[in-house]
Amino acid sequence: MSFAAGRPVLAIPGPSPVPDRVLRAMHRSSPDIYGGELVDLNLRVMADLKRLAGTRHHLAPYIGNGHAAWEAANANLFSPGDRALVLASGHFGRGWAQAARAVGVEVEVLDFGNAAPPDPQRLTERLAQDRAGKIRAVMVCHVDTASGVRADLPALRAAMGDHPAVFAVDAIASLGCERLLMDEWGIDVLLSASQKGVMVPPGLAFVWFSDRVAAPRAGVGPYWDWAVRAQAAELWRFWGGTPPVQHIYGLAEALAMLLDEEGLEVAWARHEGLARAVWAALDAWGADGSGIGANVAAVAARARSVTAVALPGAERLRGWTVDKAGVTLGLGLGADRPGDALRIAHMGHANAHMLLGVLGVMQAGMTALSIRHGAGGLDAAAAEIGRLA
Ligand SMILES: *Cc1c(COP(=O)(O)O)cnc(C)c1O
Repeated sequence: MSFAAGRPVLAIPGPSPVPDRVLRAMHRSSPDIYGGELVDLNLRVMADLKRLAGTRHHLAPYIGNGHAAWEAANANLFSPGDRALVLASGHFGRGWAQAARAVGVEVEVLDFGNAAPPDPQRLTERLAQDRAGKIRAVMVCHVDTASGVRADLPALRAAMGDHPAVFAVDAIASLGCERLLMDEWGIDVLLSASQKGVMVPPGLAFVWFSDRVAAPRAGVGPYWDWAVRAQAAELWRFWGGTPPVQHIYGLAEALAMLLDEEGLEVAWARHEGLARAVWAALDAWGADGSGIGANVAAVAARARSVTAVALPGAERLRGWTVDKAGVTLGLGLGADRPGDALRIAHMGHANAHMLLGVLGVMQAGMTALSIRHGAGGLDAAAAEIGRLA
């Protein structure tokens, strides 16, 4: 038999669950786009997105996904032949490097594998060799969503010292979930998208940039040019054409929930607690040599928004949780043994009830499929939630 009827749960790292309130706010026809309510709402959303990123600088919004944010940042930061240094700790760091290479940037990757965070010391050493200051940007994912690695952004910025390179950060999987303070941490370019911690359906990309990189660069087409959008007056100019009307309504609702109702500090603590509950379950399941555990050993280097998991039999388990319990777990993206890896998302609109449900379903599936696991994982997760609440 199956227990899958009922509300399906998507525990994958994007798209993340969208609050019903956000969906309802989007379920409307377009009003006048030349003036009035929507124009004012768009201005409020822009201001709130800057609050979310912790910046007083500039914001260029785009209709697009995370790949569009990469393309936008690359187009505005680089001319063909420029050099960039990418710090990669997984599939997404390498993906951003590839996207830059494809538009003619000379990309060098410092690769830290699939389970370790970028090492500030190696960054310092590499930049010290660049006496002429040829490297235009240091690029890094705050959270690499494939490996579940979290980079220590303040430490990396400090490791850059007085090298003139721009510090560019992909926060697609961390914004709204992890403490992130663009200006205070010296970030020059920050990217994100709507469908992860921001709790809105896929379709919007955001690029924040500091005064330091705001000077116009030759060769950027008018659509991607971030200055045009950041300096926009008319609504259509913010978005390079027809605005994503319904998404703007959804975004306003989501930002009100995150910034004004819950508050960012509380949201960050919630994600921290959910992550710790997952790790407590993994520790218990992995206790008897089952081979189950978090991909990233050091707790400080683990993402608070998604956990990549080594779990022998993960592919079978993923099938079981969908068919029997209505829960979709994330694929083991970029793992050495993808069939024995999965990812548990705890980003965005996720609470203890949802997460304990996901972990309970995983435990039920492991029992049903005779996948070896230590006892007490769900109890350990519940205890962690109880302790932290
Ligand atoms: C999801 C993600 C991307 C890609 O975003 P898409 O919306 O799928 O294009 C890039 N970087 C990171 C860190 C991500 O989590």
